[in-house]
Amino acid sequence: MPTTRLAPSPTGALHLGNARTFLVNWAIARQRGWRVLLRIEDLDGPRIKAGATEAAIDILQWLGMDWDEGPIYQSSDLMPYGTALTKLIEAGEAYPCRCTRTQILAASLSAPNAGDHELRYPGTCRPTKSDAKGALWEGSPDPDDAAHPATARSAKPGSRDPSQKSLHDPSVAWRLIAPDEERAFNDAFLGPQRFNPQLEVGDYLVATKGGQPSYQLAVVVDDARQGVTHVVRGADLAPSTARQLLLYERLKLGAPPQYLHLPIVIGEDGRRLAKRHGDTRLSHYRDLGTTPERVVGLLAEWSGIGPRSEMTAKEFAQRFDLSRLSHEQVVFTTADDAWLTEKS
Ligand code: GLU
Repeated sequence: MPTTRLAPSPTGALHLGNARTFLVNWAIARQRGWRVLLRIEDLDGPRIKAGATEAAIDILQWLGMDWDEGPIYQSSDLMPYGTALTKLIEAGEAYPCRCTRTQILAASLSAPNAGDHELRYPGTCRPTKSDAKGALWEGSPDPDDAAHPATARSAKPGSRDPSQKSLHDPSVAWRLIAPDEERAFNDAFLGPQRFNPQLEVGDYLVATKGGQPSYQLAVVVDDARQGVTHVVRGADLAPSTARQLLLYERLKLGAPPQYLHLPIVIGEDGRRLAKRHGDTRLSHYRDLGTTPERVVGLLAEWSGIGPRSEMTAKEFAQRFDLSRLSHEQVVFTTADDAWLTEKS
């Protein structure tokens, strides 16, 4: 059955940008009869905030959204991620990495595309062809990829240990061998997209130190096992889709979901909505006495439904029309804030 998911990360309170993505996701799902799962992406240990999960669930309900299954907590069963990681390691698709963030930063600053917003892993620990005695290179999709400049810099002898023992070693992370190739998909909103994970981020993490599954691995494992067929999320995650498609292939998980990426919400300075734009948390407006209908009314205007007017989430879902959604980023203005704080 067609299935989508609302997947908040309890790393902070939901703000207007998150709310617009979730509401559009939910509205499309309700219009098209998709099953909706609520999945709590609570694996990012240090960044998880106490109480943020309950607060996120509470605020989604306050806005008027519901779901057919969940909350499903990623942290409640780590086994499937461990199984997937082992599969990648055994197939020679993932390798151990002991680099510290400082080392990666230093190495990537001297790399050709330094300055990109996302840190590109330069391949320091990537096994070279001479390591082929182990399973690490067997079944590798593109052995010639070892000639990639990142690999040529491979150093740190003795730092490579493909054994299972290091799976939970607190000083070892695991990276996927990303071929220097594009992965393309047809986005249901943006149209044809293509990204080359190797050029963007290099060999990316499938597990962080100690064997904790990375965001990319956890999302793929969950979307596959939870039968997710439609992913709706912010356009900031579009490049991640290529990384996830590669994992679908490497893990032989069958057909990936259909992806739909929505323009994100930015501030008047053109930067991504954040604390610098004031307090845009939904809980902040609720505490000020703003009604959910007023918040939804603003999100409706942002989503092409028409001039802002108070409405419920159900009305939003009835009136939302994807073909009228702008491809421009949404700009949160002081006038928007005034509308939310003015008494109805
Ligand atoms: N948990 C992610 C977030 O809140 C969304 C992940 C996804 O949709 O794949 O940004």
